[in-house]
Amino acid sequence: AKKLEQDNVYFYSNDLTESTAKRWSIENQLREAIEKDDFILLYQPKVCSNTELISGVEALIRLPIKNDVPVYPSEFIPIAEETGLIIALGKWVIEEAIRQLKAWQNTACGHLSIAVNVSSRQLYSKGFTKFVVEALQNAGVDASQLEMEITEEHLIPTNQENTIKETLTDLTDIGIRLSIDDFGTGYSSLSQLKSMPISILKIDKSFIDHIPNNKQDTAMIKSIISLAKNLELQVVAEGVETIEQLIYLRDNDCEIIQGYYYSKPVTYTEIQHLIENKKW
Ligand code: C2E
Ligand code: CA
Ligand code: CA
Ligand code: CA
Repeated sequence: AKKLEQDNVYFYSNDLTESTAKRWSIENQLREAIEKDDFILLYQPKVCSNTELISGVEALIRLPIKNDVPVYPSEFIPIAEETGLIIALGKWVIEEAIRQLKAWQNTACGHLSIAVNVSSRQLYSKGFTKFVVEALQNAGVDASQLEMEITEEHLIPTNQENTIKETLTDLTDIGIRLSIDDFGTGYSSLSQLKSMPISILKIDKSFIDHIPNNKQDTAMIKSIISLAKNLELQVVAEGVETIEQLIYLRDNDCEIIQGYYYSKPVTYTEIQHLIENKKW
């Protein structure tokens, strides 16, 4: 009996150790990547549904692959947010996106905007707007080419709501366009939405997945599109994978399409090739 007890204890603590070890390893990988500026930004095209031209790209971060095991943002972003490492990671993303905009100036990619994902923790952080302004000025890049995507969930009011709204207002004042990401999955109210200095709504992939079959989802999509039109916001669909989804969205006046149907997130060189060869 004694042996069994010991075994139980052993297995129990082993399980715990495994998840803690994984977390710890991801946290270490993040710290190392921050220290060495060793992240990768991939870019996914945003395509105009009428002209089929690329109007901009979304920047999506990747960690370099260690020992053949990729760690995806869905795993490491939450850890970066909990540990506060998101501040340094987020700065790297913004600086890298601005470097890329600079490199694209006076090339076939010069018209592109880059959208970066921003977490609420960055918006609360002191001096965020100043950091962004200086990064743009140092590079000589126009603020209108930088967009920020903030998930609807991160905009839900907390006691910090005012700080966020002030930061968002400062960011739009300098010319940055703001987008509500994963729209339709959070619980933001219409009055909140009206009071936010937002220019773009991104319909969450979960609604796009069931086009054209699910009546509730297509009803949601149509209402989001008409809401966007009424508030004079641009509307983007994310996660578009099929021609049926594309046609439905285009016929219902969704202006911008993003998803595997056109392209997965790719490197900046591949974006250049897509633009130069007008791949579609
Ligand atoms: P998101 O902002 O909603 O980004 C869309 C995600 O869906 C990306 O996953 C993208 O690769 C994927 N995707 C795009 N089109 C399709 C499609 O047609 N089908 C499918 N199945 N997936 C598609 P990814 O790159 O793994 O990023 C996941 C999430 O991690 C992002 O969701 C975003 O919330 C977060 N994230 C990524 N990069 C950053 C970053 O630099 N900073 C912050 N704070 N968050 C980031
Ligand atoms: Ca996004
Ligand atoms: Ca999204
Ligand atoms: Ca999403």
